[in-house]
Amino acid sequence: MTGTVHPSWAVYDLGRLAGNLAEVQRRVGPGQNIFAAIKGNAYGHGALPVARALERGGVTALMTGSYEEASLLRANGVCLPVVMFAGALPEGIGELTAAGLIPTIVDMAGAMAAAAKADDTPVQIYVKADMGLGRLGVVMDEIEGFLRALSTMPGLRVAGLYTHLPFGDQAGCEWARIRFAAFDDLLVRLERAGLLPPVTQAGASSSVAAGLTDQANAVCVGHLLFGLSPFAGEPVGDLSAFRPVLCEVGTQLVQVTEHRQGHDLAIAGAFGIREGKRIGVAPMGAANGLQRPIPGSTPCAIIKGQRVPVIAVSLEHLTLDLDDVGDAQVGDEALLLGGQGAEAISLEELAGWSGLPCLDTVMALSQRLDARYRGGACKEVML
Ligand SMILES: *Cc1c(COP(=O)(O)O)cnc(C)c1O
Repeated sequence: MTGTVHPSWAVYDLGRLAGNLAEVQRRVGPGQNIFAAIKGNAYGHGALPVARALERGGVTALMTGSYEEASLLRANGVCLPVVMFAGALPEGIGELTAAGLIPTIVDMAGAMAAAAKADDTPVQIYVKADMGLGRLGVVMDEIEGFLRALSTMPGLRVAGLYTHLPFGDQAGCEWARIRFAAFDDLLVRLERAGLLPPVTQAGASSSVAAGLTDQANAVCVGHLLFGLSPFAGEPVGDLSAFRPVLCEVGTQLVQVTEHRQGHDLAIAGAFGIREGKRIGVAPMGAANGLQRPIPGSTPCAIIKGQRVPVIAVSLEHLTLDLDDVGDAQVGDEALLLGGQGAEAISLEELAGWSGLPCLDTVMALSQRLDARYRGGACKEVML
């Protein structure tokens, strides 16, 4: 995937990650702990380099669902607490705690499995509450009783209580406002009952962006750290200070050919050729996460500081129309994202080819390109 053998890459700017984290810190204020959600290989940005940058940036803890990625962080000396989102069977909980990871508990079977692993010191766990999303967690009405039951188990220490109330638009924001208030009420009740865990968290990217605040002492953000909007369309709140961490996707031309009138570009189906055309081919296709353009989109790449139309995306190749850059030759860079000269292609524009959300576009490009990092490279110990 590297160098001259497969010249196709993605560049992640860890300076932007640090800037986005600083913006979240500024918005939530100094009293709040920031947990970083790094599930899904850090939203496709690479769990280890991202975790290291976030550790330098001062997050309190990391949260993920991937045991493999969490273990990779541990093997590479990332010391931050790692809370595992609920994803293990009760039988797997012991393996998480043995690896120095903090499991999320959502029922008594999980709690008993964790407690069974306690030795001299109690096992740290987090409890997840379902405050209305209808997904994972202990349902709202049962949390107090559940925490009371856990408080009688000497092998357990409930280090945190969290919930998740993401929303995608203004209407969702109104829904979340009510659910946040219910969580605040719950925290008050738990404090009175002497059951309040030290860490409490409900806020995530959408609430931080929208300026929703609560009585919890932590937020857990993912999207905003990576410069991605958590909203489906129109943002709720000003996101202009957040910059996408994925800042460049590029490849190099491996062949440039002249096609005469009458030739067909088979890959382009009915496209045909009405005039002579210069065609460039680069080794980046759907297999590398580049999405096929939807009808009506006008996908482009930038070569020598100039926009050129994409003719086709095939499984491993990208075919470009080079008519407007007559001097383009093998080895020239073609950018699908990023800037060159006066031209730039944004993440929104690239995602717009396919109609996919930016996050899905970033995730797709994370699998099979040479990942390069700006602003803090690191060596990785493979497991
Ligand atoms: C992913 C996740 C978050 C972070 O969500 P963002 O919208 O990306 O900030 C927070 N809490 C839980 C439980 C999550 O799964």
